[in-house]
Amino acid sequence: GVAAAVVVCRRVKRGGKCGKANGIMKEFEEKCRTPAAKLKQVADAMTVEMHAGLASEGGSKLKMIISYVDNLPTGDEKGTYYALDLGGTNFRVLRVHLGGKGVGLINQEFAEVSIPPHLMTGTSDALFDYIAAELGKFVSQESEEFKLSPGRQRELGFTFSFPVMQTSINTGTLVRWTKGFSIDELVGRDVVEELSRAMAKQGLDMSVSALVNDTVGTLAGGRYTNKDVVAAVILGTGSNAAYVERAQAIPKWHGVPSKSGEMVINMEWGDFRSSHLSLSEYDNALDAESLNPGEQIFEKMISGMYLGEIVRRVLLRMAQEAAFFGDTVPPKLEVPFALRTPDMSAMHHDTSSDLKVVETKLKDILEISSTSLSMRKTIVELCNIVATRGARLAAAGILGVLKKMGRDAAKDGDKQKTVIAMDGGLYEHYAEYSKCLENTLEELLGEELFKNIVIEHSNDGSGIGAALLAASHSKYLQDE
Ligand code: BGC
Ligand code: MG
Repeated sequence: GVAAAVVVCRRVKRGGKCGKANGIMKEFEEKCRTPAAKLKQVADAMTVEMHAGLASEGGSKLKMIISYVDNLPTGDEKGTYYALDLGGTNFRVLRVHLGGKGVGLINQEFAEVSIPPHLMTGTSDALFDYIAAELGKFVSQESEEFKLSPGRQRELGFTFSFPVMQTSINTGTLVRWTKGFSIDELVGRDVVEELSRAMAKQGLDMSVSALVNDTVGTLAGGRYTNKDVVAAVILGTGSNAAYVERAQAIPKWHGVPSKSGEMVINMEWGDFRSSHLSLSEYDNALDAESLNPGEQIFEKMISGMYLGEIVRRVLLRMAQEAAFFGDTVPPKLEVPFALRTPDMSAMHHDTSSDLKVVETKLKDILEISSTSLSMRKTIVELCNIVATRGARLAAAGILGVLKKMGRDAAKDGDKQKTVIAMDGGLYEHYAEYSKCLENTLEELLGEELFKNIVIEHSNDGSGIGAALLAASHSKYLQDE
């Protein structure tokens, strides 16, 4: 219930010592407060921006991108399709064998490859050549079972998890980079064209049938197995949401509505900002020093790329101004992004009475030895403050989407389930964060309404979703 939510989010008690450092933290904590009333204002602001973004292009910070997905998977999709999922530190290649009506997914194979960091900020050719080469290796391992009929070209669903202004289901230009990627020459170019050229260079005979955001892929993948899925949220390195909108509720769209009368919208909610977010000085500094200042403000408060970095910045201030770690400031603590969110999470979840994990992490990652138990308690509390704020704001975002969909209020005898497909490493691996998010959503909606809302973890559903959309948009479909 509601009481439980409060207990969970405020689990850690404050240590008594280190007066000045605690003062710095107290001030930060105060700034980070997210009482329900404030979260409701955030949710309302989100709904308002959604309307504005749908009304006209550029009408809001929320791009509310038209995905050109106006039909979600039905289960009838059939054949062998590929998917390529690019958007974080790894990319995945996927091959799925779809059995068609009543059969479903017969088999899938995948490979995961990490992206060498220098390719994230290098040239367009270097990035796409690398991806196409890895894809080529994967394709060459195709077994008999997956072989396509002779004369038929392989088809691919391309999940590209950055803001892309779509011009059709399989074309779209990159609006800008997020999440630490920065390859200027690619901005404004069609990412499918780039990929196709790189594939041709590799001698890879394959065409891109669908270009999708990871949220849209996750929504499609979720719908394949559960017809009540109407939205998808990613909480990983970055964050975003997509949902099913009524075509009539999109004034800026002048296309021909499909029979479904629906259109999936990629919100790009990471770029949401509102005065209700009340940014701290640490958030402002993080933003100013980032690769994309002034952009992705919501993302910078809630997603995996940034939570550990916020903690680091507060700790650094405590070290500099309150000698929290002794007379000298630990040099590693001054390195941007030295504290990653998975390490923050490990510290936050430390249940040992002497906080052994915290001690080890501080040593191994920040080269800080000899910390007292009370210092370690303070650090755990700091992790809790940052994670709690992020999770509660993410819950407010979800409430905003539910409001826009009209799923936030009880209708008489309505037992209609609203399922949100959720994915991303932050949600998957940071248990305190996901628990807090769900508790907060219940706190905001009330117990009764919350019963109709299901958050379903979709494990890497965006790849399968992209393959399914490639199948439903196959260029051979008309001939069959
Ligand atoms: C990107 C979105 C993406 C999200 C989650 C954000 O940084 O702008 O397109 O969906 O990360 O991967
Ligand atoms: Mg996963």
